[in-house]
Amino acid sequence: MATHMDPEEFRRHGHALVDWIADYWAGLPGRPVTPSEAPGAVAARLPAGPPERGDGLTGLLDDLNRVVLPGVTHWQHPGFFGYFPANTSGPSVLGDLASAGLGVQGMLWATSPAATEVEIVMLDWLADALDLPARFRSTSAGGGVIQDSASSATLVAVLAALHRASGGRWREAGVDRRYRVYASTQGHSSIEKAARIAGLGADGVHPVAVEPATLAMDPAALRAAIEADRAAGVLPAIVVATIGTTSTTAIDPLPAIGELCREYGIWLHVDAAYAGSAAVCPELRWSHAGLEYADSYCFDPHKWLLTGFDCDAFWVADRAELVAALTVLPEYLRNAASDSGAVVDYRDWQVPLGRRFRALKLWFVLRWYGVEGLRDHIRSGVGLAAEFADLVRADDRFEIVTPHPFSLVCFRLRDGSPSTGAADTDTDTDTDRVNAELLARVNATGRIYLTHTRVRDRYTLRLAVGAPATTRETVEDAWRRIRDTATDLLDGKAAA
Ligand code: PLP
Repeated sequence: MATHMDPEEFRRHGHALVDWIADYWAGLPGRPVTPSEAPGAVAARLPAGPPERGDGLTGLLDDLNRVVLPGVTHWQHPGFFGYFPANTSGPSVLGDLASAGLGVQGMLWATSPAATEVEIVMLDWLADALDLPARFRSTSAGGGVIQDSASSATLVAVLAALHRASGGRWREAGVDRRYRVYASTQGHSSIEKAARIAGLGADGVHPVAVEPATLAMDPAALRAAIEADRAAGVLPAIVVATIGTTSTTAIDPLPAIGELCREYGIWLHVDAAYAGSAAVCPELRWSHAGLEYADSYCFDPHKWLLTGFDCDAFWVADRAELVAALTVLPEYLRNAASDSGAVVDYRDWQVPLGRRFRALKLWFVLRWYGVEGLRDHIRSGVGLAAEFADLVRADDRFEIVTPHPFSLVCFRLRDGSPSTGAADTDTDTDTDRVNAELLARVNATGRIYLTHTRVRDRYTLRLAVGAPATTRETVEDAWRRIRDTATDLLDGKAAA
């Protein structure tokens, strides 16, 4: 007979675990940002099989310290500048804890009305905070929902677009492979994944050329792609435009793209996974110009808005279209509230049936910070990134390779910078190698962590500010490490 943890035992263990998390956060700056363990090291510290008899969590916290922590990459570390941020925060963790404690499934309004209603209101609050178009509010024909990720949001948008483009036949007949998804060459990999899952195959995505200077989608190239496809009997279904591409935070020109989508009757989905959070600041809302054309839009509070993974906020302008595309109603889910048509059943807005009460963490975060607190967080990231970019610019061995409207700076050592000693014949690859070596050495210090991309086919370093604990001192320290490492590297190279 299983012995369940009684509420008093839970209280005791829970308090200890909360203390452990608080100590972990407090001690983060003293840890190396990334682990230095070989593959398999963490797994080797776990027993070969599950315990036959429960051990009452004896030594649990010691085991977290011994087994897990040495293999953790510390995404909340002040020196974490990799990829995009993946924020969490105290209120977010507490909201998740409350959700886990309630343990409800919010697939139908009837299966826990609060889960649905808090979510509707939180998505409206967020729409207010970002000043999104009125058509996305629950009080209009649209509405918002929490998806697990921006990838799922894109998938759901593609499915709804296929449904619309086929005049509703997609649902019964399945996909017609002639439909096309358009995205810039800089669009996120989740767009191809969505096309593949939707049955269009990777060939179902038509990559659209970008403006060389900004890496934003070229609307003339989009028009040419649509025209050529239509002439060949291909059926344009959806354009996925991006505000803040993953590689460099390029911003696709929504007004021109939106006009085209309107002209050809194509669904416009806007993926602002990382940069959408910036719209809490009025001075950064220019990045969302043209959003009124969008049929759907998403951003990830779990990236840059102090809300732990998973929390993608996704809105549609017409919820009836989305529900028509995804709804399936077996007898065992029928209930009077759904039949009345007076409630939202979020199972029809997403791929899975079941869903957690994720709106609680959004509520906790919004209550704790207020919109003003969220703005402070975004402004801090944008400001520190601008300061970092100034430091890079002041060193003529380096170049900034793309605009940096948000908190990501893309930079590299220049070709033929005085001391690279780059061979005339092979400058590109030589400088690429030097930049790759610079990144490896900087990351090996363990104090900061950056990642890379390729921009115009050249190896480029990315520094993304956004961890809540990052300060001006951390960013200045990061620059000193990069600068000094570059000096060592280039001097060594010149001497060789
Ligand atoms: N879209 C863009 C523009 C992104 O930058 C990312 C991740 O960085 C994604 C989509 C995927 O995000 P998620 O992990 O929420 O699916």
